[in-house]
Amino acid sequence: MHNRDSFIVYAREVIPDKTRAELEKEWSLLTKNLRLIIDNSHKIIQQQKYFHILISAAEISASFLGSRKIPLGVLLLLWKDGLLKDICPICGGEAYIIKAAGSILIGNNKWHGYCTECDEKVSGKCVNFLNVWRPAFDLKKRYSNYAIIKRYNLKSENWFDKLKETRRADEVFKERVKESSLDELINYLQSL
Ligand SMILES: [Zn+2]
Repeated sequence: MHNRDSFIVYAREVIPDKTRAELEKEWSLLTKNLRLIIDNSHKIIQQQKYFHILISAAEISASFLGSRKIPLGVLLLLWKDGLLKDICPICGGEAYIIKAAGSILIGNNKWHGYCTECDEKVSGKCVNFLNVWRPAFDLKKRYSNYAIIKRYNLKSENWFDKLKETRRADEVFKERVKESSLDELINYLQSL
């Protein structure tokens, strides 16, 4: 992808650092409205700005492969397909997995999620961790939200000239989807 005068940049999503209070607020906004969100899955999946909403807690980690932030649309697609769910340890119903980490070799794992029947945060260990991380990683890759940018190299030879040189403007081949915030989504869903 390199040539003499320019190079290609893939600009991926970045979740800004959040304080503990902000993380707790986000978790409670997500889980208190989880039934509303799931009931409106099709509307969220069809609108890119909602599909690509990033939630700090929504993350699947597999040893050796690292972790992936899972956008809201991918969570909903997985839940729709009956994946990323487990048995609620309180009521025996369905728990929606939001975060999970485990070993792909040994299968050891732990998930954290929510049961909309009990209205409780629940956690557990799933029998087959492969069924959790593989579809999540696959869909995350398929629906990755990134920009493709052509960036020009500076032409000057020495560092002093480089400091003074103005770089030729980037050319954007593909824009990133500008995602909404979770607050905006909830407001939209409540207005329906
Ligand atoms: Zn339950």
